[in-house]
Amino acid sequence: MSFGKSVVHARKQKSLAKCHTLHIESQSVRTVYGPVAMQTPVLVLNASYEPINICGARRALVLVLKGVATTEEERNFSLHAARINLPMPSVIRLLEYRRIPHQTRALSRKNILLRDRNTCQYCGIVLAAGELTLDHVIPRSRGGQSTWENLVACCHACNRKKGNSMLHELVDLQLQREPRPFSLHTSRHIMRMIGSSDARWKKYLFY
Ligand SMILES: [Zn+2]
Repeated sequence: MSFGKSVVHARKQKSLAKCHTLHIESQSVRTVYGPVAMQTPVLVLNASYEPINICGARRALVLVLKGVATTEEERNFSLHAARINLPMPSVIRLLEYRRIPHQTRALSRKNILLRDRNTCQYCGIVLAAGELTLDHVIPRSRGGQSTWENLVACCHACNRKKGNSMLHELVDLQLQREPRPFSLHTSRHIMRMIGSSDARWKKYLFY
C-alpha cells in the first residue's frame, strides 16, 4: 500500500519537475523570440504525415519539448537558451497517431474569411480581412445560427444593404455560392491559405 503510494508520489514529482522545466523553457522561448514570433503558424502533421492542424510556434515548441511531436521542417533560426538549442519549427509531426474528427476546426471569423478567400460573398469584392465583416445569411434576429453554413464574408456596403432581411426579400443581393459546411476540403484549403507564404508546407499540403 505504502509502496504503491510512494510510486504514485514519485511519479507526481517527476511529472511536476517536467512541467516546471517546460514552463521555464517556454518562458525563455518567449523571451528570446518575442510574442509575435511565438504566434508564427506551424503546420501539425499526424504520425501518418497527414496534415491535421495549425498551431502557434509556442505550442509547437512545447509539444516538441514534451516529446509529443518531432520537428519535420525547421525555420532558419534557432533558439539558444540556457541548456537548449532548439530550431524554430515550421512543420511538426505527432509521434503517436491520433484519431482526429474533421469537424474540430474552430468556427471563427478568421476561418470563415479564409474559407471565403477574403471575398464578399454578395458582390465579389476582395478586401483585407480588417475591411470585411461576417454576415449571417439568415439573420440572427430571424433565428439564424452562427454556423459554417450560415456565415459568409461580407463587405460593409453589402452588410448594410442586407440588414435584417432574408435573401428572398431582396432583389439586388444574391449569394455568389452557397456557404460550404466545414469539411476536409475546407480544412486543407484553410491550411493552404495560411501556409501560402511558407514553402516548407507545400509538400505536405499539395499531393
Ligand atoms: Zn459586398
